[in-house]
Amino acid sequence: MSQISNYVRKLIYLVGELWFSPQYALQEEKEFPTQVKNGVVYIISEGPEPDTIIFKCPCGCDEVIYLNLLKDTWPCWDFKISWFGLVSILPSVRRKVRCKSHFYLTSGRVKNCSNFFDY
Ligand SMILES: [Zn+2]
Repeated sequence: MSQISNYVRKLIYLVGELWFSPQYALQEEKEFPTQVKNGVVYIISEGPEPDTIIFKCPCGCDEVIYLNLLKDTWPCWDFKISWFGLVSILPSVRRKVRCKSHFYLTSGRVKNCSNFFDY
């Protein structure tokens, strides 16, 4: 039974990938990856709850972004996984160092924010 639901889940993910063509795929892990691949958002759960999101900066600078998910530590982000297995991160990500990218990651796709308010 769970094998069938696994197949159904994979099929739904496949439909989501074909339909939405996400720039980032979702990968859930129990520990930090030794190598962060392009186009993958890692959701890390070292304990019972997810605690960190890791992915490469979408601007192409090749830096790895670490986002905290623990509610008692600031700054803190949240994420959603859609029916199609597409990941969204809330609120937006604004890098204060180096490339200073500012973007939303919604349904696996990057939406850049205007640079108007950047300084
Ligand atoms: Zn960057």
